[in-house]
Amino acid sequence: MLSVAKETVETGSEVLHPGAGVRRLFPFFTEGPGGCYLDSAATTQKPALVLDTLRDVLVNHNANVHRGAYRLSAVATELYDEARRKIARYLGAPSERCVIFTRGATEAINLVAYGSELLFQSGDVILVTLLEHHSNIVPWQMLAKRRGLKVVFADITPDGELDMSDFKAKLSSMKPKMVACTQLANSLGTITPIEEVVRLAKGAGAMTLVDGAQGVTHLGVNVEELGCDFYVCSGHKMYGPTGIGVLYGRPECLELLQPFQGGGDMISYVSVEGSGWADVPQRFEAGTPAFPEAIALGAAVDFLSQFSRAEINSHEIELVRSAIDLLKGEQGVTLHGPGVRGGAQTSVCSFTLDCVHPHDFATIADTHNVQIRAGTHCAMPTLRKLGVPATVRMSFGVYSCEADFQAVVSAVRESRKMFS
Ligand code: PLP
Repeated sequence: MLSVAKETVETGSEVLHPGAGVRRLFPFFTEGPGGCYLDSAATTQKPALVLDTLRDVLVNHNANVHRGAYRLSAVATELYDEARRKIARYLGAPSERCVIFTRGATEAINLVAYGSELLFQSGDVILVTLLEHHSNIVPWQMLAKRRGLKVVFADITPDGELDMSDFKAKLSSMKPKMVACTQLANSLGTITPIEEVVRLAKGAGAMTLVDGAQGVTHLGVNVEELGCDFYVCSGHKMYGPTGIGVLYGRPECLELLQPFQGGGDMISYVSVEGSGWADVPQRFEAGTPAFPEAIALGAAVDFLSQFSRAEINSHEIELVRSAIDLLKGEQGVTLHGPGVRGGAQTSVCSFTLDCVHPHDFATIADTHNVQIRAGTHCAMPTLRKLGVPATVRMSFGVYSCEADFQAVVSAVRESRKMFS
């Protein structure tokens, strides 16, 4: 089995523990701007292992995959295939043939929404939730428009938890053909009871898609145990590069999908009369894939595997708890999300200020060397339901620590003084 340039890239077998100590492995902190980076839900920083792998592939193994008869191309192909195997193992997929490389979670959901189009009949229902990122809403709305379907939203509680009684009621009254639900909401950090959601949806005869864009990094997954039909994630939110993501599908479900895009690599033959499709997963990977990014995503998975999953989970839940405790005492701050009243929340802490707009706050925080997100976080239906036009969102990664949000408290005090 090949691994990327053993000569040049340290694959790292050391056991790692989350916290400020791992910043030494991230050039962003050691050579780049560093600072209190509190926007990991938008994109994570990249460890040297990922950056070195990307560079190494482009310098030492750059040849198009699945095409060349020469050694360089064969090696690139083997590295690409090995990345697929690594990711399958990391997700708990039964085979690498269940793993399709996409540009990101968004493209993976679009692939399913287009690929499953012929499985729907006019009047069919797609059940999503009010916790979804726009990328798990809009592709279904587009599909609904094309096929005359209905997109229905399961409600959330005022704390921002999935309202399971509403979910169950809609499941049994509307008999949806597809249930698409996030594992972890990027706007509030809500952990959904995804095992129960999938179990109930399957029991009601629906197909299931789980948006793991946040969940895969901050909670982890075993897709076979979860039993969902589809699971999606994005490389850049799991310490890997941008431009690469993953669609996992149960083999029998992938076989039901139509190809999403046509072109090279996804065919078994092409003639003037027509074309035939390659086997899965190639059927869904038209054109030259982002193989350096896929191989670097394999390195990101190697990096993540150096941590204990339980330690990542408790580190990020603890950070959320401490952030809530600290900000609770600050005048003019309203916290949003289930964690405020002891509910399940991780990796994200959202809040608003009485007299400062989130965008103004983020600009002031920037002067304290705090990179923090303000806005609707691509979750307009969630915020609308909670009755807030925008929030400030802190989001954490393995390198985050409590000192990061001490700086947020200073920015809160300064901005309130300026605006009140
Ligand atoms: N789903 C969730 C929960 C997200 O947080 C995001 C991005 O923020 C996405 C989907 C879309 O991911 P991407 O933009 O990488 O495709």
